[in-house]
Amino acid sequence: MTSTPSRKPALAILGKRNLELGPFARDTQQEPGPWAHWRMRTDEDGIVWLLFDKKDTSANTLSEQVLAELNDVLGKLERDVPRGVVIRSVKPSGFIAGADITQFRGVTDSAELEMLLSRGHAVLDRLDRLPTVTVAVIHGYCLGGGLELALACDYRIAVDDASFGFPEVLLGLHPGLGGTVRLPRLINPVAAMTMMLTGRTERTRRARRLRLVDAVMQERHVRAAVRAAVDGDLRRGKQDFVGALLNLRPTRRLLARRMVSEAAKRAPRAHYPAPYALIDLWVEHGGDADAMQQAEIASFAKLLVGDTAQNLVRVFFLRENLKKLAGGDWPGRRVHIVGAGTMGGDIAAWCAWQGLVVTLADTNRNAIGGAIKRAAELYGKIGRDDRRRVRDALDRLIPDLRGDGATNADLVIEAVPENLDLKRKIFAAVEPRMKSGAILATNTSSIPLEALRENLARPQRFVGIHFFNPVSRLQLVEVVSHDRAAPDVLADACAFLGCIDRLPAPVKSAPGFLVNRALTPYLLEALVMLDAGVKKEAIDKAARDFGMPMGPIELADEVGLDVCLHVADTLRGSLHRDMPEAPQWLRDKVAKGELGKKTGKGLYDWEDGRAVKSHEDVAPPADATDRLILPMLDACVTCLREGVVADEAVLDGAMIFATGFAPFRGGPLHYARKRGIAEVRGALERLAAQYGPRFTPDPGWDGLS
Ligand code: NAD
Repeated sequence: MTSTPSRKPALAILGKRNLELGPFARDTQQEPGPWAHWRMRTDEDGIVWLLFDKKDTSANTLSEQVLAELNDVLGKLERDVPRGVVIRSVKPSGFIAGADITQFRGVTDSAELEMLLSRGHAVLDRLDRLPTVTVAVIHGYCLGGGLELALACDYRIAVDDASFGFPEVLLGLHPGLGGTVRLPRLINPVAAMTMMLTGRTERTRRARRLRLVDAVMQERHVRAAVRAAVDGDLRRGKQDFVGALLNLRPTRRLLARRMVSEAAKRAPRAHYPAPYALIDLWVEHGGDADAMQQAEIASFAKLLVGDTAQNLVRVFFLRENLKKLAGGDWPGRRVHIVGAGTMGGDIAAWCAWQGLVVTLADTNRNAIGGAIKRAAELYGKIGRDDRRRVRDALDRLIPDLRGDGATNADLVIEAVPENLDLKRKIFAAVEPRMKSGAILATNTSSIPLEALRENLARPQRFVGIHFFNPVSRLQLVEVVSHDRAAPDVLADACAFLGCIDRLPAPVKSAPGFLVNRALTPYLLEALVMLDAGVKKEAIDKAARDFGMPMGPIELADEVGLDVCLHVADTLRGSLHRDMPEAPQWLRDKVAKGELGKKTGKGLYDWEDGRAVKSHEDVAPPADATDRLILPMLDACVTCLREGVVADEAVLDGAMIFATGFAPFRGGPLHYARKRGIAEVRGALERLAAQYGPRFTPDPGWDGLS
């Protein structure tokens, strides 16, 4: 494969960026100091530059040791008070990316945690009280604990591209180092609560509008701005009258009611307690900083030892694990896609958005036109404030009716309809035109790769790269191997996915691979229940109550009943298990063109992109959740036993990032382990006795106990 210029210009620039580090710029990194993570120098104006450079990492995070050292530094500054203190990161990636999440793993003792948190609070309070002007100069990421540290400074100066946020809620937590106290006092409390409740990241300009930062500037003006801040010539953001009013107890109570109902729309308290805990904190203690601080510590500790946060921390590491599988940089730059339908068009759009040059081929001119129109709509949504990026991505997405792009491509992805002969015909035409080092991939959902690779000249350079629909939303992509695939080609396919910001899950070619194999019994069981007269809304509710983002009936409509039927038939044909057959009425529906969301009618009627539900309040039967979820778990166990997927971490990650499997449960296998392997197997046996052998537990359960 030819080596090409980096496809990540933004990162390349960041790597070379010249940070304004005051007097420290010329110091060597190696110069030993009293601290492992902090370095301190005084400039000619008598301003101390405190530089954060966490040892042996590319991004700064806050850990117990980092804060202990900061405490030591502050002691020194208290003894010998300078004119001003600047806190700045020397890492090109940004200021501080948050707390070191490895510290959150497996925490069970909330009392010990409260002590630890109190020590962290004491350090930031000490920074807050330092009898001199303190300035945080922020570039890149300033998240979580990093933002809390910045909030403890008198001024925040942002360099152009900074981003600010409290992502704790995504881990089932809320800020825990004083963020809940300081943010609503600094900016409009409703905006503060929204930031903390949604975990949304704010870019520099909006952070300035919110008065989260006092100034925004280019790197070269940083030193002048620091001097102005120290001399009192820079205006400080302060809470205004409206903000103060909103922070009063009666207003807080009123606003909280709305916040709770908004939070409930996103997730119930029983599954995700953090947003509710945060709202409670604010309502109860928003007017009293000391009480709020104590309550924040207790609430954070309680959340962190709870199942939801621990499982979401697990999910964080499952994602990291999948990211690692992507390995290093992908050396390619050009992708050629054959088939501009639902999948090919969307894969092309996503690749171009991520910086690759994409040629898009189809025998149908209108399909290419439609794909480009959809791409423009997608870019309009995801790239709102970045018109240049939208324009560049559209420039990189090249219609290619004659399919000439295959000649120069580093990767060719086939996404034509699910038909073995058609796909083979495409390969026969495309493979001879490809560069010898390029990869040929298929997006097939169900055709065995062994059948597809049969007539290829270079089967070792052929893999499955199985995206899910919608490509821009579902992060997981299965990388499917087969008996002749070369390991370096599989690794390259994973690296390609890393390069387009997707998570690869390596799987073996087997019916349905992993994700569809596990989803199919779940969807089929829903149809069996529907056949037996259970209301579709009740079936969906049973799954949602468990924590699935949508129920199986709605999901089948989303995916398309034709696609579901095809996958179910293929799986049933190739798996020698007692799988229920898709009902005749489903076949009739598909034959009539009632395919689900895409045709406006399927199992539900669809209006404005939403399923019309008329029986929302019908309670599901008591065993409905187990009937849906346990067959999915059982299929996961089969995949593990058959080696379709290497281990439980990849399996759990894949199911969460491809299907949205209740993240707060930590993944299907983790859920089974937590509930008890013997208990789950027993429940399956009971269901098998009642409903039939399709529930008979896989022998793989024995290996898990
Ligand atoms: P689609 O019918 O929406 O699109 C297929 C496109 O291929 C059409 O635009 C068609 O004109 C084009 N085409 C047909 N013959 C061609 C040829 N000889 N040369 C070039 N183009 C040709 O299909 P889809 O839903 O995008 O599915 C494509 C593949 O992706 C299938 O293998 C399917 O199993 C798989 N897949 C689909 C989904 C899904 O949800 N739709 C999800 C994952 C994988």
